[in-house]
Amino acid sequence: MHQDFFPPGIAVLTGAGISKESGIDTFRDADGLWNRVNLEEVATLEAWHRDKKKVLDFYNETRSMFRAAGIGPNEAHRALARLEREYDGEVTIITQNIDLLHEQAGSKRVIHMHGRDGEIRCMACKTVFSSDYDLTPASICPHCNSVGELRPNIVWFGEMPIHLEEIYEALERCGLFLAIGTSGEVYPAAGFVLHVRRHAPRARTVELNLEPTDNKSLFHEHIYGPATETVPPYVTRVLTQGWR
Ligand code: NAD
Repeated sequence: MHQDFFPPGIAVLTGAGISKESGIDTFRDADGLWNRVNLEEVATLEAWHRDKKKVLDFYNETRSMFRAAGIGPNEAHRALARLEREYDGEVTIITQNIDLLHEQAGSKRVIHMHGRDGEIRCMACKTVFSSDYDLTPASICPHCNSVGELRPNIVWFGEMPIHLEEIYEALERCGLFLAIGTSGEVYPAAGFVLHVRRHAPRARTVELNLEPTDNKSLFHEHIYGPATETVPPYVTRVLTQGWR
């Protein structure tokens, strides 16, 4: 157990809800991009082997959505960047999102557990590299010259999230755990609050979401509303009064 660090760390789990007010839909929005496709057909390794063009076209469309005019960090992303700048201890953002809005808001310590936009992985030589180009089944790996082996460096359904060791270390040394805009239905992220309760028993756990989640009972405090309205005042409260 690592709960005696001082000042204690702050671990923040974010999900699709924090980017909603930036114009990026969550999975559950009725008319969102994700609802126009069957995720099984575009977000699994089997789907990629079956129809690479279909999978790559979907991610190219997602990337162009992220780059659309007007998409940028919102007040909730900015408040978390302020928290990292002004808090004396360590602030770690663990995000399930593949968008880069935390970084664009100024956050430095961001762990993308489901991968990140703008990174590509070669299935042949395993190299991960940054690239802003659309992928096609004819794309060539610049490292090993394989054709058709490049995929977005995004964790698909059935694949293991990345950076888990680093994430559990941050959870075990935190004194405050925030879950923001995440439904509590996607594992292992949904289990992080329980991990904090078990391994950092003195930590306070706070849920900031539009509505109560399945994990509600594991949080000490619940703050409901749109992230742009709830996160900035909560951050001000932590910076001025602490979290007890
Ligand atoms: P989710 O879609 O399952 O749940 C989103 C949660 O956010 C819901 O509980 C909803 O009530 C809440 N929410 C919606 N609008 C909100 C707002 N304005 N303020 C605060 N909360 C709000 O998303 P998830 O639990 O994060 O996980 C689904 C998976 O989808 C994740 O792996 C995530 O990476 C991926 N995803 C990512 C993006 C992105 O990169 N922006 C977008 C959609 C889905």
